[in-house]
Amino acid sequence: MFQKIIKVNSGQRKELIDLTEEIGKIIKESKMREGICYLFVPHTTAALIINENADPNINADFLNCLSKLIPKGKWLHDMIDNNADSHLKSILLGPSQLIPFKEGKLQLGRWQAILLAEFDGPRERQIIINLLK
Ligand code: ZN
Repeated sequence: MFQKIIKVNSGQRKELIDLTEEIGKIIKESKMREGICYLFVPHTTAALIINENADPNINADFLNCLSKLIPKGKWLHDMIDNNADSHLKSILLGPSQLIPFKEGKLQLGRWQAILLAEFDGPRERQIIINLLK
């Protein structure tokens, strides 16, 4: 197994940050040719998703859609921490992704990107990258 931990600084309360290029570089650096890339964020108000990042409108639509499903400010946890909506979005999306790679490249579809979903920024986030044979 090859493991690397990277840090990313988010700049807004809610945003999607494209990690595809950075993860691709780490696979090259590992010299592993094929296997599974297991990504994990050790956070309770962030998540990892895979979707398009070519049209910024789909990202805006997605964040707006989640905010309609989970509006801010009417939850029990808000009484102690005021970020229940951030936790709920993170729970729904999950902290991890598995992506196969072959010939040293992620086998993502043409329009797929790996995105860190930030729901309680700005802050520093960690992404744990595990490459498994
Ligand atoms: Zn909280």
